[in-house]
Amino acid sequence: MLSNTFIAEGKLKRLVKLLRMLGLSCEYDGGESLQHAMQRAILKDSILLTLKPILPTRRLRVIQLPESSHFNQFEKISNLIPITEFYNPFSRCLICNSILRGIKEDNSIKFNIPESVSERGLQLFHCNTCEKVYWEGSHIQKMLSRLIKARILDKKANILYENQVDS
Ligand SMILES: [Zn+2]
Repeated sequence: MLSNTFIAEGKLKRLVKLLRMLGLSCEYDGGESLQHAMQRAILKDSILLTLKPILPTRRLRVIQLPESSHFNQFEKISNLIPITEFYNPFSRCLICNSILRGIKEDNSIKFNIPESVSERGLQLFHCNTCEKVYWEGSHIQKMLSRLIKARILDKKANILYENQVDS
């Protein structure tokens, strides 16, 4: 099966964050050359996301994105790839793309969690690579509603999200 991981190249910072927020793997290095990003996409069997007109080859998979909002760019990807199947919010660090791990509540002091957050009993997530801590909040729900309303994501995404928050 083909992998559905991404490597973004060029001015796609907001799209990269959106993909990671949904749990999709997207590597990104803003200072990287196009040539290097193409090589890395081939090596890692990832799909290159770019604003430039790059032709795909037998080994290179490419999606050329419009110079538009990150929602429009996301829509183009979701028209080509069944995004919901790979969707898993709070599984990936927005900063470095690493997999997040849940933190047990009794570890909240060790991870320097603000009291206002630990009091609310929210599920916490930690990145072992860059040490960033995340907590479950309403911003994911808002973003999902927006994507569903714009018919970019199907309703299944919200059901998956609700199941995950409950568990
Ligand atoms: Zn990280």
